[in-house]
Amino acid sequence: MKVDEILAKLTEMFPDAHCELIHRNPFELAVAVVLSAQTTDVSVNKVTPQLFEKFPTPQALASASLEEIESCIHRIGLYHNKAKSIQGLARGVVEQFDGVMPQTMEELMSLPGVGRKSANVIMSVCFGMPAIAVDTHVERVSKRLRLAAPKDTVLEVEKKLMRKLPKSEWSHAHHLFIFFGRYFCKAKNPQCQDCPFTSFCREYQAQQKQAEKVEKQKRVKAKAA
Ligand code: SF4
Repeated sequence: MKVDEILAKLTEMFPDAHCELIHRNPFELAVAVVLSAQTTDVSVNKVTPQLFEKFPTPQALASASLEEIESCIHRIGLYHNKAKSIQGLARGVVEQFDGVMPQTMEELMSLPGVGRKSANVIMSVCFGMPAIAVDTHVERVSKRLRLAAPKDTVLEVEKKLMRKLPKSEWSHAHHLFIFFGRYFCKAKNPQCQDCPFTSFCREYQAQQKQAEKVEKQKRVKAKAA
C-alpha cells in the first residue's frame, strides 16, 4: 500500500484526529507537553485547567513556588520533577524571550525541558508549521506499517517520515498516527482483526508466522505420538 493510501485510510478511520492536550496558547501547550511525559493526555488534562487558571502567564508560573505548582499537578506521575521542569520552562520563556513563546525549532529547543518532539508539536499545532513529532505511538505505528525499520531511532523515524510523506501532510499524519496508535493499533492487543493494513503490517505478519510455526510443531508432535 502506498503512503497516500495509508493516509487516506487513516483519515477515513479518524476524521477528527487532533491534539488532545487542552491548551489556549503556545505556552500552555508547551507546559502540557512537558507534563505529558510518561503520562496520558487524559491525566494531564485533569490538572492543567486549574494550573493555567492559577498561573495564566509565563511570568506567573515563573515566579510561583515549587510547592504552589506541585499542589496543582500532584495527581500526575513524577510531579516533583515536572513541577521543576515547567517552572524552568516558564523562567526560560520570560528570561530568554521576554515572555513570548518562540517559533523556531532552535529557539524552542533552547528552552529548559523542551526536546525535539515537544518543539515539533508546538510548531505544528500552534504555529501551523509542517513538522512530525515522533512519540511512542508514531514510532510504533511507523515501524509496523514499514515506514521505518524496526531498529530505527526516533530521529531516524522522523527523518524517514519526512522523506516519505508529502510535506503538506506532515502535521496531519502526526495526529493520524497518534490516534491510530492510541485507539486502534495499541502496543498490546492491537485490533488486527479489523485492520485494513494486515497485508503488509510487519507485526501482523510476524504474529502469523509464529502461529503457523506453532501449528506445524503441533502437527509434528501429533504425528509422532
Ligand atoms: S495489523 Fe494489527 S499491528 Fe498491524 S497495523 Fe493493523 S492493528 Fe496494528
